[in-house]
Amino acid sequence: MSKFNNEALVNEIKGRLSIINLVESYTSVKKTGKGYVGLCPFHDDTNPSMHVDDDKGLFHCFSCGAGGDIFGFYMRYNNLSFPEALSELAKKAGVTIEKQSSPAPQKSPNSALYKINAVAAKFYRKTLTEGKKGKAGRDYLEKRNIPPETSKEFIFGFAPEGWDGLVNFLADNKVPLNIAEKVGLIVKRKNADGYYDRFRNRLMFPICNVEGKVIGFGGRRVNEEDEPKYINSPESDIYQKRKSFYGINKSKDYIRHEGRAILVEGYTDFLSLYSLGIKNVAATLGTSLTREHVGVLKRYTDNVVVMFDSDESGRKAAVRSLDALLEEGLLPHVAPLPAGKDPDSYISEEGPEKFAQLIEDSVSWVEFFIEMSIDRYKKGRITLNRMVRDIVELLEKLRDPVEKSLRIKKTAEMLGIKESEIYSMVKSGRGHNKMAAVATKTQYPRTEKQLLTVLVKFPDLHVQLHNEDWSELISNDDIKSIMQAIIDEEVKDPSSLLIHFDGKVAHEIISEALLSSPVIPDEDTAAKIFQGCIDKLKLSKIDEKLKTLRIEIDEAIKRKDDELEKKLLKEYQQYKELSMQNKGRKEESYEQ
Ligand SMILES: [Zn+2]
Repeated sequence: MSKFNNEALVNEIKGRLSIINLVESYTSVKKTGKGYVGLCPFHDDTNPSMHVDDDKGLFHCFSCGAGGDIFGFYMRYNNLSFPEALSELAKKAGVTIEKQSSPAPQKSPNSALYKINAVAAKFYRKTLTEGKKGKAGRDYLEKRNIPPETSKEFIFGFAPEGWDGLVNFLADNKVPLNIAEKVGLIVKRKNADGYYDRFRNRLMFPICNVEGKVIGFGGRRVNEEDEPKYINSPESDIYQKRKSFYGINKSKDYIRHEGRAILVEGYTDFLSLYSLGIKNVAATLGTSLTREHVGVLKRYTDNVVVMFDSDESGRKAAVRSLDALLEEGLLPHVAPLPAGKDPDSYISEEGPEKFAQLIEDSVSWVEFFIEMSIDRYKKGRITLNRMVRDIVELLEKLRDPVEKSLRIKKTAEMLGIKESEIYSMVKSGRGHNKMAAVATKTQYPRTEKQLLTVLVKFPDLHVQLHNEDWSELISNDDIKSIMQAIIDEEVKDPSSLLIHFDGKVAHEIISEALLSSPVIPDEDTAAKIFQGCIDKLKLSKIDEKLKTLRIEIDEAIKRKDDELEKKLLKEYQQYKELSMQNKGRKEESYEQ
């Protein structure tokens, strides 16, 4: 838990910006009795499950659990840290952030890392475009027919030959070298002091995040003898391969506009499509697509075409990406390329029109897979059993129930077997439908959650906890820390509670507690429910103790340890009485 020291600023921004206006710019919402509901942008929502309360300044999705205030919404939607969201929302609200008033974390802890990458990108760019040292890079671009506009738009650069070109430049400009090491631009020498350049004699491709900040680099050799062909920045606090796309800062608007993303691997494919006018491209960086990647893409479109080389290994490589898309609830299309071709070679040889046709002809992956499996069975490459198993495994991954039943029906027709048979295979699922588990929200112990919900709605009730050893009763750490904060901070206005937490989980729990129904009519009722929860938790603690005692007693009897048996029995009796008392009390005071 961390408390932000710019509470006043947060409140100022919250006072000026309406959460409903913010949410409305991302998803459509409808007025209902007490507040607003809309389709949740954080999961594949078909039935509006996100509630927004403008008075409280909160949102919560009762389906996936996402929730919080405007900061939480903005951070989650745009994948930002709290300080980043703070500075952007401050701008929207027309609030100026005074540097002195809150000295420490105005800036994201990562801003130094972005800055150093920007400095390095400038250095590489200058080297490429001016002087002798960049000639090898310029020659390479010319040889590969890469237009100067592309080179300029994507800020291509060149890392000079030698071991200390960048190191010296950074040192001359008083840039802290340990930070340059953190983003992997330079490497610490093993047996001596100092650093050396990671990228040498390579064409440099800056990798940017969606906002266009440089998060890493790819370096391609210009000399065919150099190994390896590509060197990429190592992962750092600002660069993670599992959620980064090359060029997304440029292509995202085209993706949104076209309503479709073409998925390729690596910047070579990306650049050749983009420079030939096919700009709605997303390129992963040396990995297949992950579910985090899909989370980023879903901000711009639900419609993704995966390109792959149609030989066996190319198809296998694409399957992981396709699975990630299915697991996130999308229905990807595939555009198979002739065997041995990649998007770069195909578009270079056949031209952009033929390429665009390939995309137009793309087919649903599910349909493609089923037809391909049947075809392989007919050709005797796989058994009937194997074919059905493969198809069922794919159908299990579909999140959309309508799509699922449609596909089951079609498959049954194609295979000439009963629909119900496929249904029962899909339903039994053979126990490994991982998606369902991920899609549902975290489950918290029921009574603990109810206790917290009441406390969040009526924070004054915390006095009832003063004579209790309450933290012993709470098993969930997140719930415990929220309760602790309510007590320590003497919270009066529950919606201000979010300021005390910067973790997603706490925001989800708090917003749910605040927006959940039913509404408790008054403090007296709340106090009764609250006490009821405490008693119930105590009782289950006692029951647990009784259970362990029973086991211990059995063991004592087995070991013929009469003394111990007597002692334990006495203890058991005491707990039993305690349990009876509590049960009585519970029935008196707590009617559900
Ligand atoms: Zn949701």
